[in-house]
Amino acid sequence: MHEYSLVEALIGRVEAEARKRGALAVHGLSVRVGELAGVDPELFQTAYDTFRAGTICAQAPLTLRRVPASWTCSRCRAPIPRGEVLRCAACGEPARLDEGSDALTLDAVDLEVP
Ligand SMILES: [Zn+2]
Repeated sequence: MHEYSLVEALIGRVEAEARKRGALAVHGLSVRVGELAGVDPELFQTAYDTFRAGTICAQAPLTLRRVPASWTCSRCRAPIPRGEVLRCAACGEPARLDEGSDALTLDAVDLEVP
């Protein structure tokens, strides 16, 4: 499942970060998921709870924040409302997706560093 492979990759990244910083434990992590990522927050949480056992994230609660998709003009940066034609009314440039893209971003990791 999509969510499971994302969680697996996420925990891998946290472990790498913790190792790099010589952390003793992870106390929490927060993650940002774009609206268009097709991630089900509940399923993601379940996947996380399944995977974190036995990893450095075992005691770390997960905060998941969904970012709604938003577009701006690629030239003049004017915001382009969703649901309309994805092209700037002023200069005709195509809209660029700002947030809510299909990225999963690791926002913060609360590490216990000696
Ligand atoms: Zn424009």
